[in-house]
Amino acid sequence: MSDISGKVVAITGASSGIGEATARLLAGRGAAVVLGARRTERLEELAESIRASGGRAATRTTDVTRPADLERLVAGAVDEFGRLDVLVSNAGIATIGPVSDLDTEGWSAMIDVNLRGVLHGIAAALPVFRRQGRGHLVTTVSTAGLKIVPHQAVYAATKNAVRTLLEGLRQESTDGVLRTTSISPGYVRTELADSIDNPEVRAKIRRSMAESAIAPEAVARAIAFAVEQPHDVEIGEITIRPTTQG
Ligand code: NDP
Repeated sequence: MSDISGKVVAITGASSGIGEATARLLAGRGAAVVLGARRTERLEELAESIRASGGRAATRTTDVTRPADLERLVAGAVDEFGRLDVLVSNAGIATIGPVSDLDTEGWSAMIDVNLRGVLHGIAAALPVFRRQGRGHLVTTVSTAGLKIVPHQAVYAATKNAVRTLLEGLRQESTDGVLRTTSISPGYVRTELADSIDNPEVRAKIRRSMAESAIAPEAVARAIAFAVEQPHDVEIGEITIRPTTQG
């Protein structure tokens, strides 16, 4: 039997892209999924489609910049399915551009969603994991944090901050209760470029994605690999990119 079957998994950013693909894959393998994002209608459609295929899914409208929304997402897992085994902190935006654009609003938005959003998830989930005696935190970071390229400095900084955060949390969690996993995707075919305001940068990223990008289902499979391991095995980091990406 799959080690995913029977697990309860909450996913932020579940309304599209990697989050949606992860929800479909894990639910198809027997997990109960609790879907969080701001676009409620898309969450409902996804939950309906999972249920129609015999899966278990619930939704909670979630803006990860609001700590109370993460509390509600985690409580939703416990209320609907009795526990929370995995939190996939996946919500993210890429309001990228050259630092010289001085897009202070875009910088703050990335810090609020990509970094604070993960912290709010940790604050909500950790007490539940500790009470249960086990739990797993998975985050979607990026190869942008590993290979620094122009136009992505602040985005990369938020992703590297999360990677650092998870390693610190891991070091504090050697009592065996918590597993942490950072997934670093390269280009993935999703809606992420829609959040880029700078038209030249948006066109460039869209070109790169058209030339060389993997499907979100590939990242979902990497997440499933980390989740399906027995609890004494922690997959700390996975890098996954198109074979042709430089
Ligand atoms: P999408 O744009 O398809 O998905 C992003 C998700 O984040 C959406 O579900 C969106 O939902 C959600 N989101 C955005 N802001 C918030 C918020 N304030 N609160 C809650 N949810 C929010 O892109 P991806 O699937 O590609 O992105 C998923 C993750 O993968 C991100 O963290 C991204 O940085 C990372 N990543 C993506 C790569 C790529 O090439 N696509 C490469 C490396 C990493 P909604 O708008 O409904 O709230």
